Amino acid sequence: QANVLIVGAGHGGAQAAIALRQMKFTGSIAIAGDELEYPYERPPLSKEYFAGDKPFERIMIRPEKFWAEREISILLGRRVVEVDATAHCVNFENGGKFGYGTLIWATGGAPRKLTCPGHDLTGIHAVRTRADCDAMMQQLDRVQRVVVIGGGFIGLEAAAVLTKLGKHVILLEALDRVLARVACEELSRFYEAEHRARGVDLRTNVMVGRVIGEYGRATGVQLVDGEIIDAEMVIVGIGITPAIEPLATAGADGSNGVSVDDQCRTSLPDIFAIGDCAAHVNAFADNATIRLESVQNANDQATVAAKAILGLPTEYAATPWFWSNQYDLKLQTVGLSAGYDDIVIRGDPSNRSFSIVYLKKDRVIALDCVNATKDYVQGRKLVEARAKTNTAALSDALVPLKELLV
Ligand code: FAD
Repeated sequence: QANVLIVGAGHGGAQAAIALRQMKFTGSIAIAGDELEYPYERPPLSKEYFAGDKPFERIMIRPEKFWAEREISILLGRRVVEVDATAHCVNFENGGKFGYGTLIWATGGAPRKLTCPGHDLTGIHAVRTRADCDAMMQQLDRVQRVVVIGGGFIGLEAAAVLTKLGKHVILLEALDRVLARVACEELSRFYEAEHRARGVDLRTNVMVGRVIGEYGRATGVQLVDGEIIDAEMVIVGIGITPAIEPLATAGADGSNGVSVDDQCRTSLPDIFAIGDCAAHVNAFADNATIRLESVQNANDQATVAAKAILGLPTEYAATPWFWSNQYDLKLQTVGLSAGYDDIVIRGDPSNRSFSIVYLKKDRVIALDCVNATKDYVQGRKLVEARAKTNTAALSDALVPLKELLV
């Protein structure tokens, strides 16, 4: 039993415990996670860790001894399957109960799986956990051709790493462009061209009909038009489903995620939810209820929940930001571009350093900056102010964005 029990030892869970101790919370804290590792950073799983450029120790959120030194108990390999909000306790899959005063639900999401025939063959991989990544890395020596299903950030990053490792990648996207959910067409086309220039066979508007296999192992995919694409490995990056079943069963409000208020409280007493699984009203999305899948959001909501637990004034109002590394391209985004009605491109995409400014009713709502950190840093203020600017000045890359904030 603990004063604060955190379920999920990922980004949000780790940060919630760290923030509580930083704010001098003296009660007992336990984190229960279903993975076998101490909290680690997830973004490198499709970047430096997958590429073999960073060992696991360097992606740990804190060294192992940190947790014991701060008297934060970490229970690994413990999956919570039931929450009893009245009795204030949780049940673990492998038996045992754990009582709490306050519960922080920080379980992220489970990768969406294929549902087509052949979806259960071995050799089909998700990229969500270290175990997923290690399973792929162990096989890479024997793999030459990889089919990546899904042209979102994770699929594209995995394609970039695999290409750098000398693999032939066939990337299949069902929509008519990659990154369709998160970016404008100009950015999608830029990334498509970059991948193709490096040899990725990137196809849009294609649907996988089934995964084909031999002896229980995937040997490729068949598209709905009948074409067969051979591959020794299939990677699926088609999004996540928020991991909220136990809370939903306990009666928490929400549908796509657990609904939380601006202090990250769920509708259940003494239960908070943070990170990828938390559906919240976001000012940067015109007060729509959304889930954000980013390290920034997990960390900021963790801090909000910690403050709320300590009775400190707080309210979630963080500026969304995100990054993606593919080849030598560093994309940094700030704000949320959904709902934009115009864009301005600063710089020349053919120089591989440019920014896209998203506008709504002449106000800046978001920026996507490719190898353009200065714009990202300075543009942040424009997004936060929802600055009204003139497009001529915005499009002149020689005019620093900070000069446009009036
Ligand atoms: P997680 O970090 O996923 O942690 C949740 C933990 O809870 C997991 O360990 C999970 O196994 C565990 N869990 C789930 N259910 C239970 C249960 N019932 N009982 C116990 N434990 C449970 N974001 C960025 O901002 N930039 C990036 O470049 C970026 N790249 C990414 C690349 C990859 C490959 C992935 C997978 C994600 C990436 N993200 C990136 C997203 C970012 O990692 C997530 O938004 C972030 O990890 C969310 O934190 P979280 O605490 O909500 O969930």
